[in-house]
Amino acid sequence: MADIQTRLADVRQRIRIAEKAADRPAQCVRLLAVSKTFDAQAIRLAHAAGQHEFGENYLQEALTKREQLADLPLVWHFIGPLQSNKTRAVAEAFDWVHGVDREKIAVRLAEQRPAGLPPLQICVQVNISGEASKSGCAPADTAALCAAVARLPRLRLRGLMAIPEPGAGDPRAPFHALHALYESLQRQGHALDTLSAGMSDDLEAAIAEGSTLVRVGSAIFGSRPRKPVQAP
Ligand SMILES: *Cc1c(COP(=O)(O)O)cnc(C)c1O
Repeated sequence: MADIQTRLADVRQRIRIAEKAADRPAQCVRLLAVSKTFDAQAIRLAHAAGQHEFGENYLQEALTKREQLADLPLVWHFIGPLQSNKTRAVAEAFDWVHGVDREKIAVRLAEQRPAGLPPLQICVQVNISGEASKSGCAPADTAALCAAVARLPRLRLRGLMAIPEPGAGDPRAPFHALHALYESLQRQGHALDTLSAGMSDDLEAAIAEGSTLVRVGSAIFGSRPRKPVQAP
């Protein structure tokens, strides 16, 4: 198995090729390294290879690593499902939250974001595949939720996030729908700059449809254990 540095370079190359294939400007897509289940040492190696932004799903695990890595200038994104009882710790410890899918969570994050920190950067999660089991705001409710987030203090609405169900159809279709929603919000006056879409297996399809941030885990760090090491 290649090392983290090599795989990181491979992923960056995939992103550059996908940008070019889509006639999009070079470096218009940011890479978020999803380090869930991997230890602080793996993050140090990725940082040494020029990676600064990391995504985590499991709060307790993330807080431990954040302490172990306090000497590094990293940007932390919370990308896991967000329940009310976790909002305070997330508001205190993270720079970005990608999983905001209801107003109640946004209100709590706004109340709990410490005043001394910069605004918490928010992506509203959209349930683009329509699965009842998946988290995310229904597409039809997204405009109202974005308007609510934009009104709240200490939050800054940056864009949308989605995790399409891997399905039988065109892999680009859900990303296309997400991008259309993103553009309609921009037309409504939201200054959005982040479309958080695409992972190890589908980043090319997401970039072809306008993603500006891909969240990549296994292609950088290797395969994860099937079950998370701790409950989310
Ligand atoms: C785990 C995870 C990723 C990364 O998935 P890979 O397939 O390992 O690239 C991206 N986004 C979210 C929300 C995740 O939970």
